[in-house]
Amino acid sequence: MQLEIKDLTKTYSNGVRALKGVSLTIPQGMFGLLGPNGAGKSSLMRTIATLQEADGGSARLTGLPEGDLDILTQKDAVRRLLGYLPQEFGVYPRVTAEAMLDHIATLKGIANSKERKEIVQGLLQKVNLYEVRKKNLGTYSGGMKQRFGIAQALIGSPRLIIVDEPTAGLDPAERNRFHNLLSEIGENTIVILSTHIVEDVTNLCSDMAIICLGEVVATGNPNDLVTQLNGKVWQKSVEKSEIDTYRQTHQIISTQLKGGKTRLHAYSEVPLDGFTPVTPDLEDVYFTKITEKMGVMSV
Ligand code: ADP
Repeated sequence: MQLEIKDLTKTYSNGVRALKGVSLTIPQGMFGLLGPNGAGKSSLMRTIATLQEADGGSARLTGLPEGDLDILTQKDAVRRLLGYLPQEFGVYPRVTAEAMLDHIATLKGIANSKERKEIVQGLLQKVNLYEVRKKNLGTYSGGMKQRFGIAQALIGSPRLIIVDEPTAGLDPAERNRFHNLLSEIGENTIVILSTHIVEDVTNLCSDMAIICLGEVVATGNPNDLVTQLNGKVWQKSVEKSEIDTYRQTHQIISTQLKGGKTRLHAYSEVPLDGFTPVTPDLEDVYFTKITEKMGVMSV
């Protein structure tokens, strides 16, 4: 099974071109969709989750036992195999986690109450909320709400799971728990993790794409993308006041404050005077692609 997206376009009524011909092939496993705020990630995710119409292009799930599915037209069939955790996951504050999951399972068509109970109890254990299953959702922390979100997205054993900006607002321990949970989802499932946090993709994803200004600017295996940058990233410690001068003469991909000085990372195919070579990482890939697209440094 894979998800084939071709030339997807979307312009909102206010004239914003959120998707300018996005093409991606997404295999089974964990796929990272990385991009800065406003890149078009949520627009793409909402389209694949059948919540929003595209203006043009196609999105198909291929290689399913029951035959290919056209995501843009066969919405009901897609929804039956979809799990979606949106960016803004509202919960009913006065309902318990157990009652809410039971309700969602009913909506997803699991009519047998005994079967439903087994599924709900199993999911509560999986996301480590079993002990607090009888507490109202309004009393949950951000991390607990996200884990509840994953539990509801997993009801009905979905084959395609979309997780939009899942770790925003989580503390490091909660993020870690959330990552572990995501990595346990079956291998024969497509999981798309949309995020602006590079580390989430480094930790979890075997394939990825970077989108910026509604276009795909890189796609591939994270390690391969990093390898392509070998020997092309250089660093130098400078005073804050010097940064602008360097920006005018070098392709600066990131700046980071370290011990009162600023550490610059620059992209160059040849050695740079006064700079030392750096072993690149995915963050360098991300910032190189984004700065190439936007023409300025994004952070
Ligand atoms: P991301 O998820 O990467 O932050 P979005 O898909 O939310 O990006 O947004 C892409 C662009 O489309 C942004 O410029 C955003 O302001 C705009 N946009 C998103 N949703 C709407 C909408 N419903 N109406 C108008 N513009 C929108």
